[in-house]
Amino acid sequence: VSVIIFPFLGVLAGITTWLLLGRMGSPLAQMKSALLNHQFIPYLQPLVEGDNYAVIGAEALMRWQHPKVGMIPPDQFIPLAEQSGLIVPMTQMMMKQVSNYFAPRASQLPIGFHFSFNISASHCTDMGLLEDCKAFLAAFFDHPVLLVLELTERELICPNEITTRLFRELHKLGVLLAIDDFGTGHSSLSYVQQFEIDALKIDQSFIAKIGTDALSAHIVDNVIDLAKRLNLNIVAEGIETRKQAEYLRAFKLDYLQGYLFGRPQPMSEFAKQWLNQINPTAIPYSRKPRA
Ligand code: C2E
Ligand code: MG
Ligand code: MG
Ligand code: MG
Repeated sequence: VSVIIFPFLGVLAGITTWLLLGRMGSPLAQMKSALLNHQFIPYLQPLVEGDNYAVIGAEALMRWQHPKVGMIPPDQFIPLAEQSGLIVPMTQMMMKQVSNYFAPRASQLPIGFHFSFNISASHCTDMGLLEDCKAFLAAFFDHPVLLVLELTERELICPNEITTRLFRELHKLGVLLAIDDFGTGHSSLSYVQQFEIDALKIDQSFIAKIGTDALSAHIVDNVIDLAKRLNLNIVAEGIETRKQAEYLRAFKLDYLQGYLFGRPQPMSEFAKQWLNQINPTAIPYSRKPRA
């Protein structure tokens, strides 16, 4: 029953949000004023190591803290932000908020701790992204952190001249690139060939199928196997149950992420929960030789 009810509730919530927003003027105009009013904020979700579950990084996930509607999840406003180009200043704001908050607390992070941000395809043709990354890393000058950019396939990234140069410069700067939702799109394998990718995040839809039936198990095993053969850092996303975590243990994945380890939370809560519990021996994302 929940399989039917929950997506239904999600759709209903989405429609309700847009009905409420619609009555307050054009969604785009509201997004512009929300940007000026700092209503887009990062929630942070921990990433843990695969063997001892020590926290090694945090993914920033955008939320729209709307004064009337409440907290709006990204699926309901990112597409419009991408189409309108607002995603670029919105992402800059996210990076600034994270560095402003964590740079003064960076001594409480282990060496090699990473922050990752989701980057839209349209942003990958903007050399300004390089400056934003430089500014982010510079804020952590006395306690360096790693910076990871997660690329999805919602919009296609064309390997044009600017993108190629941007990714090359980012690589030189030490910024790591990850493919998000690996296994779902058509182009993640070509991204791996075209760009210097450092990490793959196996999509949560595969993890959700663990323990359901033999065919699903076969698919999950093969997606993980393919990812491992590419010799990149591997993250499994969307782990909710101990059973899923136990199943994945056999694959010796580098990193895990999911509600089982921690939900996305406001920065101050993330700091309260995780900053003093961090394992100093955790092994960070690393650059591996290409397979
Ligand atoms: P994503 O980058 O693949 O992020 C993972 C999503 O799965 C997040 O949803 C997270 O809250 C959720 N999640 C994490 N662990 C679990 C779990 O154990 N079970 C389940 N069921 N879900 C889990 P969220 O925060 O709603 O974000 C959805 C998507 O929106 C993200 O998927 C990403 O593609 C996009 N997004 C979020 N923030 C940004 C952003 O700042 N910029 C861009 N361009 N896209 C963003
Ligand atoms: Mg992501
Ligand atoms: Mg994902
Ligand atoms: Mg996703």
